Amino acid sequence: MTSCAGCSEREATLKCPTCVKLGVNPSEINYSYCSQACFKANWKSHKKIHKSFESAALASEQSAVRSKLGGDMTNSLSFSPKLASIKVTPNDPVENTDKNFPRNLHNASEIFLLTGNVLSARTLSSSTTEIIKLLENGPDGKSTMKLGRAVICWECGYAGIPKNADMCDKVAVDIKGVCWNCGRDGETNFLKIVGGEGGEGKEVEEVPWMEKNKDLEVEGESS
Ligand SMILES: [Zn+2]
Ligand SMILES: [Zn+2]
Ligand SMILES: [Zn+2]
Repeated sequence: MTSCAGCSEREATLKCPTCVKLGVNPSEINYSYCSQACFKANWKSHKKIHKSFESAALASEQSAVRSKLGGDMTNSLSFSPKLASIKVTPNDPVENTDKNFPRNLHNASEIFLLTGNVLSARTLSSSTTEIIKLLENGPDGKSTMKLGRAVICWECGYAGIPKNADMCDKVAVDIKGVCWNCGRDGETNFLKIVGGEGGEGKEVEEVPWMEKNKDLEVEGESS
């Protein structure tokens, strides 16, 4: 007989339905009780099992994503410190005073990694490779460049010139950029690149975001 997980005296006749649903292994964790009363009496401590089981399931899901993406995410993803010079413009005064608000794209990459959001981290990394190269070496003069204000999309991690770029000039305040990648505008912030090459002591100047013109480009990504 299985004895009750609560009083461990009487025979257990009912199982916690949530544990059954979550697929908790009964030989590892006893989730059977003798009565509703015993189940209720132990609910506070018992429900912790559900929580930890859920977060473990999430973690294993994420590690599956990670291995699908090719091994250890910290090896496969690198973020240039230059990303710190791409500032995130707060959408409202609340964001502006929020200490946790990511001030620049380097903070953004940290947030994606810390929360295990590998897909967004990867999208951010790939969508900023080009601008980082351009900031370091300047344009090659051969490709047609699109210049403008870029956005970061918190829903997919993409950074780049928005779909509605023509409506997003510098003075537009109420408008939100539409993510080029996922087409959403619910969670986007404009970006501002500061201090092209100058560095310390020099005036902070704004540099436009540059990217290859995707409207014209048909062939795949190669350079
Ligand atoms: Zn009991
Ligand atoms: Zn349970
Ligand atoms: Zn997006």
